[in-house]
Amino acid sequence: MNIILLGPPGAGKGTQAAMLVDERNMVQLSTGDMLRAARTSGTEMGKMVAGVMDRGELVTDEIVIGLIREQLETADASGGFIFDGFPRTLAQADALGELLQSVGQSLDTVVEMRVDDTALVARITGRYTCGNCGEGYHDEAKKPKVEGTCDKCGGTEFKRRADDNEDSLKTRLMAYYKDTSPLIGYYYANKKLQSIDGLASIDAVKSSISAALENA
Ligand code: ADP
Ligand code: ADP
Ligand code: ZN
Repeated sequence: MNIILLGPPGAGKGTQAAMLVDERNMVQLSTGDMLRAARTSGTEMGKMVAGVMDRGELVTDEIVIGLIREQLETADASGGFIFDGFPRTLAQADALGELLQSVGQSLDTVVEMRVDDTALVARITGRYTCGNCGEGYHDEAKKPKVEGTCDKCGGTEFKRRADDNEDSLKTRLMAYYKDTSPLIGYYYANKKLQSIDGLASIDAVKSSISAALENA
């Protein structure tokens, strides 16, 4: 099963994708993670996108479509793909349809995670991850069971994203409304869209996503 998790920055896409990976053997394709990895390893592309990402603007369609193409051609697709943070523009959505078709796959459903802007500020400013394994946490909503120690790998170093501040969030939200929200209509018209309440607890959102996948 191939799915898109669609929602603004901080909606909970990464959190839910990680659980689907663990429990359903799906492959998470997060363009945000791929771009951050390119920055960390210091590639030319990584250097090129750094400023754009820190400001909260969108990287060009060409770059992110290239990243997704590479993954679709090489990753093991047997458990299905979760597209997280991609597509973000209509051009990316068209490209995804063509790329899936070219590898003999198709899109099963798009789960739109609905949240409001005020909740997003708290989600984004409280977000941090394990520096070792990347497990996601939140200052209030998802603390490690033992303070200062990652539940998943026992790591003790954590990090926060350079773009997780209120200024960059404003730009990212505007980019979402302007460039990404048209995808809601696009997938509705394609009879792929299912919308769920992303404001509920992490467990409740997880149940809604399971129901949506059953229904796809
Ligand atoms: P969030 O978790 O806030 O939704 P991501 O980790 O998905 O953010 O993306 C971080 C940044 O990477 C974005 O603000 C943007 O600059 C860039 N980016 C990620 N995915 C895309 C995409 N599909 N198209 C354009 N830019 C992207
Ligand atoms: P996205 O990938 O959509 O940008 P994340 O999954 O990184 O969003 O979630 C943003 C922050 O909100 C993280 O710190 C995460 O732990 C927290 N979070 C995720 N889902 C929920 C939820 N349902 N309720 C409260 N906090 C949540
Ligand atoms: Zn960890």
